[in-house]
Amino acid sequence: MYILNIVKITLKAVTVFLLSMAVVMLSSCSNPSPRFERYLGTVCFVNLYEKGRPDYYDEIFDRLKQIDEEFSFGSVKSDVYRINAFAARESVHVCDDVFSVLETAKKISELTGGAFDVTIEPLVDLWRINSTTPHIATQDEIDARLPFVGYESVILDPALKTVRFAKDGVKIDFGGIAKGFAADEIAKICKKHKIKRAVIDLGGNVYVFGVKKKGELWNVGIKNPEYPDSAPLIKVSVPQLSVVTSGIYERFFEKNDKRYHHILSPDSGYPVENDLYSSSVLCSNSMVADALTTAFFVLGREKSLEILPAVEEGLGLDIAAVFIAKNHSVYFSENFPYSKKILYSDWRIHRAHE
Ligand code: AMP
Ligand code: MG
Repeated sequence: MYILNIVKITLKAVTVFLLSMAVVMLSSCSNPSPRFERYLGTVCFVNLYEKGRPDYYDEIFDRLKQIDEEFSFGSVKSDVYRINAFAARESVHVCDDVFSVLETAKKISELTGGAFDVTIEPLVDLWRINSTTPHIATQDEIDARLPFVGYESVILDPALKTVRFAKDGVKIDFGGIAKGFAADEIAKICKKHKIKRAVIDLGGNVYVFGVKKKGELWNVGIKNPEYPDSAPLIKVSVPQLSVVTSGIYERFFEKNDKRYHHILSPDSGYPVENDLYSSSVLCSNSMVADALTTAFFVLGREKSLEILPAVEEGLGLDIAAVFIAKNHSVYFSENFPYSKKILYSDWRIHRAHE
């Protein structure tokens, strides 16, 4: 058995999760309880503070359940299942949610030179890193699957809302983008009900919504990659915004002292090996932030920072990034617009282009 360490967030671990990931370090007060439930393979936590009415929570968690069903691999009724089963042979009609995520996924693939690739599924399925039976893939196995990875093979018809694959063997995986989409959808519900402030935390995909009581900024923590269950490494103070991180400590297994984590290179087919522990993206659009954290991890710090202006222009969004390197250096993107603080003395800030 080589499953030495598979990271799993269980409901039992929720307390640790909330305190430590503490992704959001808030000055809390006596409001109705927040709610959390398990969807999209993670613990989904929402706090609506003084507007925490049960019917609002119900609406939010019903929506999460719906998104989970649309994007779930398990159900034969889900759009993702139908796409993967049939889109190589025929055009598959999908719901608006899945179609719009696919459109964004393709756009981000184009802007990141394919570093983010929604057709990564044949490799995800090979390594099974998110499962209880992970597998160390051989070069032959990888070579056999790489031809099926390539976002150009996904053909979208916006008029008919259909998906078609250009060849057999292509399959999609929304693991790197669906949580961000869900966070945006919850934020829309908050907006609709004029909720003043909310924290949405879908397994580390954080969205701080509205303004705090005295108009203060939100303090959001970015995890210490070496001690992900302890106090955060970085504190950023932000207005309404999404803060998302992809890191090698999220889902992985280890064998012979080597860590195999869940962010895969669409080029080599292996878990990405570089000098990074994690990449974080701060953006008003959580789906974009989610996909970009994955892409930036694949690209590495220098390349990500090089393409950042073009990505911002291509998406029409302001995007800031943080990279945590294994040598205890922290890099912020140029003109990082938010106040930030490193909370451990043995980590230091480096200028982005050093
Ligand atoms: P994240 O934690 O957002 O970086 O997402 C990681 C998840 O996205 C993995 O568990 C896979 O399901 C999927 N994934 C892995 N590598 C890639 C990639 N290069 N592009 C798109 N999705 C990926
Ligand atoms: Mg992601």
